[in-house]
Amino acid sequence: MLDIDMAMSPNPAATFPDFSHLPHVVIIGGGFGGIAVAKGLANKEVRVTIIDKHNFHTFLPLLYQVATAMLEPAEVAYPIRTIFGKAKNVGFRHATVREVDHVRNVVMLEGGAEITFDHLVVATGATASYFGIPGASKFAMPLYSLADARKLRNRLLSSLEEADALADTAPTSLNFVVVGGGPTGVETSGALSELIRTVIHRDGLRIDPSRVRVLLVDMAPRLLTPFPEKASAYAAKELESMGVEIEFGRSVVEVEERAIRFADGERLRVAAVIWAAGVTASGTLAHEVQASPGPGGRVRVMTDLRLVESENVWAVGDAAAVPLDDTTFCPQLAPVAMQSGRHCAANVLLSLKGEPTKPFKYRNKGIMATIGRHAAVAKLPGGTIIKGTSGWLAWLSLHLFYLVGFRNRLRVMINWTWRYFDWPSGPRLIVADAETAE
Ligand SMILES: Cc1cc2nc3c(=O)[nH]c(=O)nc-3n(C[C@H](O)[C@H](O)[C@H](O)COP(=O)(O)OP(=O)(O)OC[C@H]3O[C@@H](n4cnc5c(N)ncnc54)[C@H](O)[C@@H]3O)c2cc1C
Repeated sequence: MLDIDMAMSPNPAATFPDFSHLPHVVIIGGGFGGIAVAKGLANKEVRVTIIDKHNFHTFLPLLYQVATAMLEPAEVAYPIRTIFGKAKNVGFRHATVREVDHVRNVVMLEGGAEITFDHLVVATGATASYFGIPGASKFAMPLYSLADARKLRNRLLSSLEEADALADTAPTSLNFVVVGGGPTGVETSGALSELIRTVIHRDGLRIDPSRVRVLLVDMAPRLLTPFPEKASAYAAKELESMGVEIEFGRSVVEVEERAIRFADGERLRVAAVIWAAGVTASGTLAHEVQASPGPGGRVRVMTDLRLVESENVWAVGDAAAVPLDDTTFCPQLAPVAMQSGRHCAANVLLSLKGEPTKPFKYRNKGIMATIGRHAAVAKLPGGTIIKGTSGWLAWLSLHLFYLVGFRNRLRVMINWTWRYFDWPSGPRLIVADAETAE
């Protein structure tokens, strides 16, 4: 079949423009940072190759909604090739980068292939930080990829089904423990509690809701520490009204297959431990590209986003320790990744023209976290706090605005509106292959 098609087609190479004479910019990672770099280089006098181990861009801030059966995986992901369909100078390679050779200007892929670059941008993001707690990386469930979200959804729904099956013979209690009271922990525990309580009633599961606990634990004395105390107290009150139990000052010392142990000696049997305790670049490629990595395993960059010891290697987003001032670094947030990505593209172009590069300055866009389907807290750049329904509407609009792909935006908007009025209509499917998917 392939042979016939090839024979009938004109020379396939002739249908593609030839950019081989242009400088080659390789971007590792198609997240917020990498996509912003490529957009800044689209239709410019460069040849761009984005390399990513996934063939899609993932909108990480909405992963918790996939995990709690509010959205489908395809609604928060978008094929990287489709994003750049109209930019003929931007190509994509579906591969995992294993190593960077700074001497030969080559990236080495898993499987042995090599790609040569003139300029390289490291935009590999971060990963969950387990702080060396025994068993955490093996048994706790992070939320850092679409596969993580699907695995978590499977685990949540399977646990409820298992409890239903035992209802007549051995009624069981289910504990879902969320570790970490930052935005991800707050959002996930709220959505999880809503899912469980509503689903038990609407799907006719024979489980006593009082035997299902969603427990949010944190070492800190309050939730959402980057927010003022009043906003933290508001978030805690809202979560508790949704049935989430919150315990502060609790440190986890071990995670087992179906149990968690705390520093005070308590061992709790669990249906799942959801890990939202922090992020690190240690263990990712970013940690390997420099002889001595920066804070949190991140790549140390100068103010123009170039690696301290390099002329042609740059880093953006979560992978980079981007200086905020003389002593601190930018937070690992989506706006930092997008802004640093755009700035990096501009500096690569300046550098190719032999002109001086410009220092990156982060424009603080504020932070926000949603709590269930009606409330959110947002801290605006000036420090003003918005809470309640207006905070929630601001959260909705912002996430819709930044979601990649018009079709995704439309589908998510329709689904959110629908589920606002008919909450239990979400995609509660247990898809067996997700347990083994990468
Ligand atoms: C659950 C969750 C919720 C969040 N919520 C918010 C929020 O509400 N607001 C906010 O501002 N920020 C939020 N963040 C943080 C925000 O998503 C990150 O700051 C942002 O994604 C960083 O963008 P990035 O491009 O640096 O990395 P990423 O978006 O992580 O992208 C990195 C890309 O690199 C690829 N990659 C990694 N290693 C390799 C390799 N070796 N070879 C090939 N490809 C590789 C990955 O597949 C991925 O596509 C959240 C993060 C998470 C995990």
